[in-house]
Amino acid sequence: MKANFYSLGAAEEVTGSRHVIEIDGESYLIDCGTFQGSRAEADRKNREFSIEADRIEGTILTHGHLDHCGLLPLLAKKGYRGNIYATPASRDIASLIMMDSARIQARDAEYLRKQAKKNGEKFDWTPLYTEQDAIAASGQTVGISYNRPMRIGDGITLEFHDAGHILGSAMADITIKRGGQELRILATGDLGRKNKPIIRDPVVPETAPDYIVLESTYGNRLHGKTEDAVEKLAVIAKRAVENRGKIIIPSFAIERTQELVYYFHLLVDDGVIPEIPIYVDSPMATNATTIFQVHPECYDEETNNAFIKHHKNPFGFNSLRFTTSVEESKSLNDLKGPLIIISADGMCEAGRVQHHLIHGIENPNNTILIVGYMAENTLGRRIRNRESEVKIHGMWLKLKAQVEVINAFSAHADYAEAAEWLNALDTSRLKGILMVHGEKKSQAAFRKYLEEQGYGNVEIVKYGKTYELTR
Ligand SMILES: [Zn+2]
Repeated sequence: MKANFYSLGAAEEVTGSRHVIEIDGESYLIDCGTFQGSRAEADRKNREFSIEADRIEGTILTHGHLDHCGLLPLLAKKGYRGNIYATPASRDIASLIMMDSARIQARDAEYLRKQAKKNGEKFDWTPLYTEQDAIAASGQTVGISYNRPMRIGDGITLEFHDAGHILGSAMADITIKRGGQELRILATGDLGRKNKPIIRDPVVPETAPDYIVLESTYGNRLHGKTEDAVEKLAVIAKRAVENRGKIIIPSFAIERTQELVYYFHLLVDDGVIPEIPIYVDSPMATNATTIFQVHPECYDEETNNAFIKHHKNPFGFNSLRFTTSVEESKSLNDLKGPLIIISADGMCEAGRVQHHLIHGIENPNNTILIVGYMAENTLGRRIRNRESEVKIHGMWLKLKAQVEVINAFSAHADYAEAAEWLNALDTSRLKGILMVHGEKKSQAAFRKYLEEQGYGNVEIVKYGKTYELTR
């Protein structure tokens, strides 16, 4: 039996995940994510949607991050009327993310139109899709829980396994049965890590795959241990109590924010730190936290033991506040420490976190805690680099606050963790590893590492190139 595989995104790069399995002329799409990066390039790539929507038989969504779900509304807009399979939690997170993306695009269009008018320039940029398209994509999404094999086409079965990456994240285990033969493809989506809070560890599926579509984001990196990170979090919190300082944490709204809330809650519950007011200052994070609350089927045993058994909500406790209005957000500037503000965006390039930084960055009693990736040329990166002065909203401000960095909260497996997962799999049938979702340097290092581990059949997937999968 033969099938074809090709990638229309996340080939030798990390965003815009879009992979296609083609069998007897039927196409199945795995993820349909947005390209992120410099504005003009990302916009061009997102508009080059080189697959005909009416040729897709079914779509599988591995998780709700924008670079995996962000172009599903465009797919719907282009006429795709088929099912989008996702876990129930991914469906909810993706709905939130797609809607947010539609709103941001509408806002951008409005802003750019005004700017162009002011400058007497021609303006013809339109959003990729609207809120209605995002709603349509949500409406086409069919929830399939973990470990519930479902027939999604003629002789084609899909089963989701825990990927341990974010709430609802799944590996797609696809079995194609045709003409008395069986071809098994396991797509990792984004492969998570063991011991992440809230969610379960990545599962090692029992089915022996013929091919693995493997992500490679951290193919050349090792992360620190989560335990050490929590200890550091406690030290920083205690120092804020002593100095009556503020801890400002730039964070994206989904997963990292809920993890931080969870850890602080645990540290308070265990008596390691005193109760400190925590303000989650991002409407998106507030909505995302609601989604976390309604999906206990995704929680791991520790979360169940620490909270659910005692009828406690891991994402809401006495000293936690969700600010929604702009006035409430501004009023945080007048409060005295100790307090913790978790606010978006994660790279400090926009959003409410910038106001908190303007008011807090020049005070040496305050701490700016970096918990996520800071891309080059962002305010977050300049703070991370501890530059002595930074510009926010056109003002030069002295960076006097302490800057702390915790790397261990990563949601992606590092190369050793990914190899450990791979080594635990039944690879008796394995014919090839198709490497996707990684930058060139990281992929080259990862392939070399896997070769040393005895995997001689690793392909670094090239954009648009077709790979034949046989059994
Ligand atoms: Zn992801």
